[in-house]
Amino acid sequence: MSPAPLSPSGPAPSPAPPLRQRFRKRLLDWYRANGRDLPWRNTDDPYHILISEVMLQQTQVDRVLPKYHEWLGKYPSLAALAEAPIDDVTHTWRPLGYNIRPRRLHAIARQSVEQFGGQLPSDHETLMSFKGIGAYTAGAIRSFAFRQRAAILDTNVARVLFRVFIAKGDPKAHAMKRQLWGLSELLVPRKHVFDFNQALMDLGAMVCVARKPRCEVCPMQRFCRSYPWTDAPSRPKRRAD
Ligand code: SF4
Repeated sequence: MSPAPLSPSGPAPSPAPPLRQRFRKRLLDWYRANGRDLPWRNTDDPYHILISEVMLQQTQVDRVLPKYHEWLGKYPSLAALAEAPIDDVTHTWRPLGYNIRPRRLHAIARQSVEQFGGQLPSDHETLMSFKGIGAYTAGAIRSFAFRQRAAILDTNVARVLFRVFIAKGDPKAHAMKRQLWGLSELLVPRKHVFDFNQALMDLGAMVCVARKPRCEVCPMQRFCRSYPWTDAPSRPKRRAD
């Protein structure tokens, strides 16, 4: 049987192996010196990873931190969450917003109890069979909880990979997203998957931010195709020769 795909991929730019190695090494070195110490980085519990990832989808880390602890104190397992009344669950979620998220978590918890004894499975296809678990969340659970070689692609990761390796075209186009998934798959290493994926997210959150990326302190500047980045309104116009 052929192995499960890492994620839904498309044709992707293919950095040469030495460049991939340099990218991985620089990223991991940077992360070990600068990465954030966050509570969901000190666990391999798939449920804890799921909660953190769903909370972080639309919400800043500083707002997620107290709610993450409160949530796990109140619903310490998928079974406890599945048993809780939905009104209680949505109330506990406040004030994070986007109330579809606690409803999805509740449905995931119920499905896990009904089909998997209150656990989350570790393979891509089965995770994706849960309503509310998409390719990104499946990749996060596999790489952070089960330490599998699985790619991720959230907004921060997509921005970093686009700027470093592509730099042309519409970063939000559907075809580009497929390319970026392919790049993420290509780059994810066999070892240190957890650190590598967390590092990609941190670089996008702390250095290669959407506006005014901090290129001057970026570990990728020597081979980034977008370096030095200048936000569009103030970019110097090219002189017509
Ligand atoms: S050099 Fe600048 S644009 Fe390139 S990855 Fe780093 S912060 Fe982003």
